[in-house]
Amino acid sequence: MAAIELKTVEEIELQRESSLLVGKTLAEVARHIRPGVTTLSLDRIAESFIRDHGAIPGFKGYGGFPGSLCISVNDEVVHGIPGKRELRDGDIVSVDCGVLKNGFYGDSAYTFAVGDISPELRLLLDRTLSSLYEGIKMAVDGNRVGDISFAIQNYIDQFGYGIVRELVGHGVGRKLHEAPEVPNFGRRGAGPRLQTGMVIAIEPMINLGTKNITQDADGWTIRTSDRRPSAHFEHTVAIGKEKADILSSFEMIEEVLKNTF
Ligand code: MG
Ligand code: MG
Repeated sequence: MAAIELKTVEEIELQRESSLLVGKTLAEVARHIRPGVTTLSLDRIAESFIRDHGAIPGFKGYGGFPGSLCISVNDEVVHGIPGKRELRDGDIVSVDCGVLKNGFYGDSAYTFAVGDISPELRLLLDRTLSSLYEGIKMAVDGNRVGDISFAIQNYIDQFGYGIVRELVGHGVGRKLHEAPEVPNFGRRGAGPRLQTGMVIAIEPMINLGTKNITQDADGWTIRTSDRRPSAHFEHTVAIGKEKADILSSFEMIEEVLKNTF
């Protein structure tokens, strides 16, 4: 496995700028999420917004991916391709966004409710979001990657949800995906040691039913094997001395959501 790239304080500030632009882009997308909207129209809004802010969509063309966003609805876990599909009342939709600016990537994802969703889905979203913050709490110097993994798993296991195993968080910097891998399950004290200068994307993918997934014939879309819904939240995080430094932000998204409902 590749070595872990450590970033300087200045580089982390550049990465904060990229990550905040992701948060702003997701907030712009949030303004347009409603029943009847197509996922392709959301992708176009995001691409224009990113380019208008002097950045490049991080996912577009990555490994041949056609969109600027990964948009994954209901039983789609991640890597959904934007297209003609219209969102419907009661859906949940994961929107994952990456940008490249000043040589550094930001990467963050948020799962939105479309109109009114069931209490069961509301809980899935709330708990997946909470699990992300449980993991982030452990993103401090001297801990190990497994401490993050364990914290997420330990929080989620009480609900009987499925934790996706095959897809994991990752280092992020000059490349979208760097070492180390950051699984959402694992053992305390295991894995690489965390230190300041490391920047990682933490991204629990949590399924209402089975943890098992399948990939569609499109070569991208990952969905649950039992076709039950899945949620996904992601932050780009710098390892802190005492406390994790969250470089991306959901604040702008939450401001939009507060004013919508
Ligand atoms: Mg992402
Ligand atoms: Mg990621």
